[in-house]
Parts: sequence; structure tokens; C-alpha cells
Amino acid sequence: MKDWLMNFIRELFTTRDNCALCGRHTLELGKHGLCMACEESLPRLDDDSMAAFHYEDAAAKLIRDFKYGEKLWIADILAGYMADRVRELDGKADVIVPVPLHSSRLRQRGFNQALKLAEGLGRELSIPVVDGLVRLRKTKTQTKLNHLEREANVRGAFKVKDEISFDGMTVMLVDDVVTTGSTLKACGEEILKAGADEVIWVTAARTSEEKKEKE
Ligand SMILES: [Zn+2]
Repeated sequence: MKDWLMNFIRELFTTRDNCALCGRHTLELGKHGLCMACEESLPRLDDDSMAAFHYEDAAAKLIRDFKYGEKLWIADILAGYMADRVRELDGKADVIVPVPLHSSRLRQRGFNQALKLAEGLGRELSIPVVDGLVRLRKTKTQTKLNHLEREANVRGAFKVKDEISFDGMTVMLVDDVVTTGSTLKACGEEILKAGADEVIWVTAARTSEEKKEKE
């Protein structure tokens, strides 16, 4: 068959799509909806922490587009990569719980990014999602604080909702970005107090600041 005819037929039966990161129109999207070039440019983590990416370059752009650009569909793309990471590290849990936003921040943003990621991850891994934590007080942004200040900043800031028990469960705690882990730690402690056996965490990305502090 003539090449042009083959191409024409291929075009008829192929769905073109736009890459969610660079917007390029392409025939060949990766399994989570990015073009191959973007997929390869993502700064993946290869240690044993359950974060999909380093918080830099293409991964940071993807998370910012999702969180501040209100491109909510990106949650499922990120959740896809997070699920890959969980499977790679053989993570198991009975329930997925997102890190909560304070109600005033939730009103301002209109959605909790961690809940959106948790829902995507729950669908990928077939694990139920329970939005079971509340943020009791508005905490200062952690960006400019050091490790100890961060821990103090979030201490006592979270609680498990009254009607919820995590008795005997392994809980997968989900957030978008982890830096020192103080927020996840504060949430994890409350989940353990509510009866959980174990808490593991999964995030879309990890900042390199944490790496610096570990060294
Ligand atoms: Zn792309």
C-alpha cells in the first residue's frame, strides 16, 4: 500500500492528544498522558522513599500547574506515577488518607491537592480513600523554616476526625510535596493514636532540601 494511504489510515484510527506538560500535539503519549520527551525528562527518584520525583524541573512544573494553575486533571497523571512508585517498592495499605488543608485555605484554593492525588492513587491501586484528618489551625508556610521550626510549626496542628478509627490498619498518607517530612510526621502520629498499626507515606515529589538535611 502507498505510504500516504497507510498514513491516512493510521491517522483515522489513532487518537491524537496533547501532552499535559508541554502541550505538544502528539500521536505517542506515555501511559500517564505525557509525551515521551516530557516523560523522559521527569526527575525520577531511585532511592527507597515513596516519592515519585525530585521537586525540580519538569516535575515541579507539573505540580505547580496542578496546584496553582488549577489544572485538576494533572492529579491523575501524578497519581499514576505515584502508583508506579508504590508498586515498585511493594507498598501495601488498607486505606489512603490525604494531608488536610485548613478550611480557610481550602476555601481560597477550592480544592485540596492532597485529596485529589489520594483519589487518583486510590483508583490506581484499588484502595479506599478516607479524608479522615482535619487541620486544626492555620500553620505558617514551611518554606522559610528550618527542620526544628517546621516541626514546632505543625505540632498539634492535625487531628483525626472524631468518628474515624484506623484500628489495626496500615494507612497510606498522601501529600503533594515532602520537604523535611514534619507535616507527614505530625499527621502520622495522630493516625497512630487513632489505632493504626503502621503509617507509610507517598508523595508526588520530594524537595532536595531534605537530602541536604540528611547529609
Ligand atoms: Zn510533553
